[in-house]
Amino acid sequence: MPGKNLSRDEAQQRASILTVDGYQVRLDVTSAPDPAAATFRSTTTVAFRCTQPGAATFLDLLAPAVRSITLNGRAIDPAGAFDGVRVHVDGLAADNVLTVEADCAYSRTGEGLHRFVDPADGETYLYTHYEPADARRVFANFEQPDLKAPFTFTVTAPAAWDVWSNAVHEDVTEQDGARTWQFAPTKPISTYLTAVVAGPYHVARDHYSRELPDGTTLEIPLSAMCRKSLARYFDADEILGVTKLGLDFFHEEFDYPYPFGKYDQAFVPEYNIGAMENPGCVTFKEDFVFRSKVTDAAYEGRANVVLHEMAHMWFGDLVTMRWWDDLWLKESFADFMGSYALIGARTRYSSAWVTFANQRKAWAYRQDQFPTTHPITADIRDLEAAKLNFDGITYAKGASVLKQLVAYAGADAFFEGARRYFKRHAFGNTELADLLGILEETSGRDLKSWAAAWLQTAGVNSLTPQVTTDAEGRITELAVLQNGDVLRPHRIAVGLYDHDSDGSLVRTARIELDVTGARTVVTEAAGRPRPALVLLNDDDLTYCKIRFDDASLETLRTGLGEIRDDLARALAWSAVWNLTRDGLMPARDYVALVLRFAGQEGNIGVLQSLHAQAKAAVDLYADPAWRAEGGRLLADGALRELRGAVPASDHQLAWARFLAQTAGGAEHLGLVRGLLAGSARIDGLDVDQDLRWSLWLALAAAGQATDEELAGELAADNTAGGKRQYTQCLAARPTPEAKAAAWSAVVDSDELPNALVEANIAGFALPAHRDLTALYAAPYFKLLEKIWAERTIEIAMRFVGGFFPSAQIGEPTLAEADSWLDGHPDAAPALRRLVIERRDDLARALRAQACDRA
Ligand SMILES: [Zn+2]
Repeated sequence: MPGKNLSRDEAQQRASILTVDGYQVRLDVTSAPDPAAATFRSTTTVAFRCTQPGAATFLDLLAPAVRSITLNGRAIDPAGAFDGVRVHVDGLAADNVLTVEADCAYSRTGEGLHRFVDPADGETYLYTHYEPADARRVFANFEQPDLKAPFTFTVTAPAAWDVWSNAVHEDVTEQDGARTWQFAPTKPISTYLTAVVAGPYHVARDHYSRELPDGTTLEIPLSAMCRKSLARYFDADEILGVTKLGLDFFHEEFDYPYPFGKYDQAFVPEYNIGAMENPGCVTFKEDFVFRSKVTDAAYEGRANVVLHEMAHMWFGDLVTMRWWDDLWLKESFADFMGSYALIGARTRYSSAWVTFANQRKAWAYRQDQFPTTHPITADIRDLEAAKLNFDGITYAKGASVLKQLVAYAGADAFFEGARRYFKRHAFGNTELADLLGILEETSGRDLKSWAAAWLQTAGVNSLTPQVTTDAEGRITELAVLQNGDVLRPHRIAVGLYDHDSDGSLVRTARIELDVTGARTVVTEAAGRPRPALVLLNDDDLTYCKIRFDDASLETLRTGLGEIRDDLARALAWSAVWNLTRDGLMPARDYVALVLRFAGQEGNIGVLQSLHAQAKAAVDLYADPAWRAEGGRLLADGALRELRGAVPASDHQLAWARFLAQTAGGAEHLGLVRGLLAGSARIDGLDVDQDLRWSLWLALAAAGQATDEELAGELAADNTAGGKRQYTQCLAARPTPEAKAAAWSAVVDSDELPNALVEANIAGFALPAHRDLTALYAAPYFKLLEKIWAERTIEIAMRFVGGFFPSAQIGEPTLAEADSWLDGHPDAAPALRRLVIERRDDLARALRAQACDRA
């Protein structure tokens, strides 16, 4: 099969001669409920113009078979024109009509038209997911973002189903047990944004209306869908409530009426990512339908995603990047807007910036220190590279830099720029210069050097305070030292903190200034008493790693938890985690901080991050000789805090889960078993279905859950979620047979759906089982290229990332990775990138372990 990998050059060439006037796409999915049916009928008719009559071009199509091809009334033999990836046509006229009739495959990997059968009731559900380039798995098209066109979908489906697409349906007719849904033409949109959702989904409906400045009223029908078997858990009111607040907010800020008519939000099974901004038909992972108790951090996270996708209706859908180099033009903005709008739209999630500082930035810092990091505006040569760029740089660093831009240029200039950008480029495509030019107009500032420093270079700076004092303990000079490959202009606030009468650490002064170059003196600080803590980047205005002077670090060791302000405390937690990852603070010191202060951490999202990071500190960054003791300390801490937590609180649930993740000794596992059996109780703790699975996972990983017990739990929870967690438990058993079965399930067959691939890998790869999984390192490296070539990129990425021998932390594994990289200079760049990143994690862990040992 020729390459599936469309290049930027090919896309540019095609766009230079073609203009697409519209698509008619007919899909017949009446076969979907029949598990033996592997394909569905797909017919595309595309009308397009060509500035070079006589020229040749191609449509993208990944399909098992093409039945017919007709160009301007002339039949073309598929045997010669279709190669499995592209439909080649030549002899183009100035005006063309091209029809391709194909058999396309139902997907099990979440790419293209995904088919899912609900184990709870046997119902079949379909949905599409395309970004960056999987519409070609469902219908033939010009798969590149800058060939926008109106799409008219016609979908024939079983009569009992409903069908949704980007536009409203205009007509439904029934014949022979099937219904045909005729949808209205869409506005001009890119192929990756088209969508179809079909099945016996449960639907909640609502409505939004708004007076526009011109006196007319904008009416937006709203709906939210999930599988029928999840309907009783579906809190559609909460989701639609956030939706309406968001629509109010974005209309006020963007001053451009929502352009896509209705607004559907479908929560769909086995979804590969958080959500996708298909205009008028957003798809979300159904983990956002909470069937067991979750903490408020999960509700906040979901609301953030609802607003992120809504921001895309303008940033991305109305105005779209020309090519994937400028993916940030939509993702950085949407990521920023997700947090900004949680506050601005007056949702109940008032700590959105704490979460941003704590979680999104951690993702960015991690990605930005890989050898593979890249500027926010990237150089994306092809689709495989595009796929990997949905990363911590494009999303979280980009959003952080926009937050810095707001501090630097002002919110008014920023939003006025957005308003002009939408009006000027509506239904068009843009590049960096288009946005920058507008922001220069609205801010009155030259942003070229700012953009060069922040958008066109890679890497993170660290900022370190340097404090000198006189004999009376007054500051004689406070300077900010900047490190990094590229020094940047940073607008920051410096916070000075001291203990108040009740022992809390509170801010006594805030100094805002521009930091430039390697050393910047904070002139305003001179003459003030030396504070207990100097916190650089207070309020989290810029994107940097914060360091501390010795006295401030000592204050944190004894009083980090006493910082009263949630954001400042989150910044301090983030900074000590970065010190740990950088091998500048021993992992056991970080663990000690968590054990000492996590119990009083008020922000539930921060607490959950601390749990994950403390576990990683022990598993990866601690001296192996101390690992067992570190694990015991975490489990003891979890038990202590679980018993002390407020009954029925989110904190209690978080500590219960943390106990399940850390339980190892007889006492902890005994309690786990008691909670499952009902013989032990923690006041207020509801041991509901998902917590039960967490507890079973702890027992399975310790070799203390029998096959009969796990099968019994699955029988009691015969659902999609149950099956996933059962699969993970099986793979988590500490036996060679269990590991072999999990490995084989993923490697030896491509039958497994994405969700179960992930569950097998998660259970297989538990760090505690490093002795059992060590023998898979060699076959892993041997299989890399084969898996990359044979599997879809979603599954291949899971294999490469999930089975990398991350738990085999030592020089031999590093040498194995290096030897593979040296021996495969011509492997796919996207594959090499993933291996280089895992290899870098390993080298980092070795440095951190050396620090912990010293
Ligand atoms: Zn997005």
